[in-house]
Amino acid sequence: MKAEIVAIGTELTSGAKLDTNSQWLSLELAELGIPVHYHTTMADSLDAMTEVLQIAAGRSDLVLVTGGLGPTLDDLTRQAMAAMAGVELALDEVSLEHIRGLFARRQRPMPERNDIQAMFPVGSRPISNPRGSAPGIWMVQDRENGEPCQLVAMPGVPSEMKRMFTCEVRPQLRPAGRVIRRARMNCYGVGESTAEEMLGELTARDHDPEIGITVHEATITLRINAEGDSEQECLEKIVRARQQIHDRLGSLVFGEEEESLQDVVIAGLIERGQTLSTAEIGTGGLLAAWLSDVSGSERCFRGGRVLTGADGLAEFDVNVTEAGNSEAMATAMAVACRTSYETDFALAVAECPDYEPDDPEAVAPTTWVACAGPDGVTTRSLTLLGDVSFTRSRSAKTAFDLIRHLINETTRSD
Ligand code: ATP
Ligand code: MG
Repeated sequence: MKAEIVAIGTELTSGAKLDTNSQWLSLELAELGIPVHYHTTMADSLDAMTEVLQIAAGRSDLVLVTGGLGPTLDDLTRQAMAAMAGVELALDEVSLEHIRGLFARRQRPMPERNDIQAMFPVGSRPISNPRGSAPGIWMVQDRENGEPCQLVAMPGVPSEMKRMFTCEVRPQLRPAGRVIRRARMNCYGVGESTAEEMLGELTARDHDPEIGITVHEATITLRINAEGDSEQECLEKIVRARQQIHDRLGSLVFGEEEESLQDVVIAGLIERGQTLSTAEIGTGGLLAAWLSDVSGSERCFRGGRVLTGADGLAEFDVNVTEAGNSEAMATAMAVACRTSYETDFALAVAECPDYEPDDPEAVAPTTWVACAGPDGVTTRSLTLLGDVSFTRSRSAKTAFDLIRHLINETTRSD
C-alpha cells in the first residue's frame, strides 16, 4: 500500500505557517506500516488542487488531505474533490443538522455560507467531526490498475484533524502487513563525516535496519528505521543496531530520542547529588538558559554569571593577566565560579565573539571552555567559525560535553 499526503492552504505555501499535519500523519501511517511516498503542500487554488488530487489518486492507494474544508470562499477542497472525480456536490441532510445543532448549542445564528460544509461530492461520505463544524470527506476513486484509491479529506486545524484521524480514519485503514518502528541516538564530539566513517557499513543504504545520519549545530543524530512483520521483530532490530552504534562510537553517544546534552548533564548531576554553576562571556547566557530549561534543573543548577566582556570579572574575584580567549582565563573563571557558588562543578566559557571574516584565508580564532570540579580543572578549546548563534551554541555544547564526561568519571559525593 502506498500513501501520500496533501496539505492545503496558502498560509502554508506562503511560509506563514509550517505544515505540521503532514509530519504527524506520516508518523501515524508509519506506525500502521503504511509507507508515505509523497508530501504535497499547495495553495488554495481550485485548478491546482484538482490537478494535484488527480495525480495523487492515480499513483497512490491512500491520499490523506488536510485543510480547505472550512466555510470561507478560499476553502475549496470539496469542490476540488468533486472536480477531480467529475461529479457534482450534493447536500447531506444529516451533516446539515449537525452543523445547525452546533450553532444552536453555541447560541449563534448559522451564517448561510456554512451550508457548504454539508455539501459532499456525489458518491463520497462524510466523516463526523464533533470538535468542529466541518465534517471530513471519504471518497473512493477507481483507478486504471483496478485497485481503488481511498481519498480522505480532514480539517486543517491540527487538533480537529488529529481527533478525526485517530477516531474515524485509522480504525478503518486496513492493517497493513508491515510494521515500522523508529529510534534515535544522539552523539556529540566529532564531525558528521568522521562519525559516518566510524559507523562504516551501518549507514549504507541497504543496511537493515536503515540508519540515517543528520547533524544540527554539531549534534549528530542517528535515526534507526526498522521495518518488519511484527513489532517484536522491529524492536529486536533496533536493540541490535543500538548495540552496534555503541560499539563503534562509544562515549560519543550521549542520549536517545529527544535528549539533549543539557538533559543528560542535569540528570547525571541529580543522580549523583552534585551541583553546578556557570560563568560565561559573550554567549548571551546560553549555558544558564539551556540548563534552566531542563525540568528539575533547580535541584542541581545553582546559577551563573553572564558577562558581556572581561570587564565584569573583577567583582567576580578573577585575577587574570591574560584576558581574552585563553585557557588561563577559562580556568580562572571556572575556579572563581566554583568557589563563589560553592558548587561541585563550575563551567566557564572564556569568550565567544562573532566571527565571520570577509577574508576566507583568515584563521578562525579559538576559544576555551573549562570545567572546575572536585578533581581539578579540565579545559577544551574550540574553533569559532560561523554566525553568532552557531558559535554560542557550539560553546555551550562543548562545555556540556566536557562536564558530561567528567561526571561519568567522578565518584558520587555524599
Ligand atoms: P476551518 O474550518 O477552521 O476553516 P479548514 O479545514 O478550512 O478548517 P484551514 O482553514 O485550511 O482548515 O486551516 C485552519 C487552521 O489550521 C489554520 O490556522 C491553519 O494555519 C491550520 N492548518 C491548516 N493546515 C495545516 C497544516 N498542514 N499544518 C499545520 N497547521 C495547519
Ligand atoms: Mg479554513
